[in-house]
Amino acid sequence: MNTQDIIAAVEAVHAAILANEEQIESLDRAIGDGDHFINVRRGCEAIAGLRPELAPLPPAAAFNRIGMKLLSTIGGASGPLIASFFVAMGRELEGKDEPDRKNFAVALAAGVEAIKSRGKADLGEKTMLDVLIPASRLLLRLAEEGSDHQTLCAKLKHEAEFNMLATRDMIATKGRAHFLGERALGHIDPGAKTSQVALFAVCDMLTDKRPGQALSPVPN
Ligand code: ADP
Ligand code: MG
Repeated sequence: MNTQDIIAAVEAVHAAILANEEQIESLDRAIGDGDHFINVRRGCEAIAGLRPELAPLPPAAAFNRIGMKLLSTIGGASGPLIASFFVAMGRELEGKDEPDRKNFAVALAAGVEAIKSRGKADLGEKTMLDVLIPASRLLLRLAEEGSDHQTLCAKLKHEAEFNMLATRDMIATKGRAHFLGERALGHIDPGAKTSQVALFAVCDMLTDKRPGQALSPVPN
């Protein structure tokens, strides 16, 4: 994966987030304050504006630049979390100008660890981590096993969708939704949804499919 791939992946995520506006917005309106879609879209637009600046950079520097830009652009709880994800990925890829799949899997795991420590959160708290932690673990395992590309992406998508849907039955212990207690039950976490949408977009971009489509329609 080189910086061109990273730029293409970010563009695919941007398109997929826009395509899922209605659902992401309504999820955060239901159990948050309704700004999650706007926050994420603002971040995507800021990265799109960085494109000429990113192109000549090695992947580590590109991820770091994206993270620093997001830190100053996205608001809300999710801003610093997503920014720390990219900064940590960049740190992990330092010195690797053409990272292979294993390097990338390790970098993604470092990014997810950064979200955990920044947000002081873990699995089962009804956040984006409920999609990202299992996806990262699965990617590490499949990359280690040398799984072929199609299989890897299909399994990652399945895992992401399953875990995104599972947040519906969780009580939130982090983020705004925790003020709702049991009233958050029955609603998917918006950050889990955007994480699933982003993972789908990157997988689809890598396997050359139509980006951003969920496997099944998801109710609020
Ligand atoms: P805010 O909650 O400040 O309005 P957003 O609406 O942009 O920010 O983001 C909300 C999402 O952030 C939640 O759906 C959840 O997935 C994620 N989130 C909130 N707090 C945490 C945390 N401590 N750790 C990980 N993710 C979190
Ligand atoms: Mg919000």
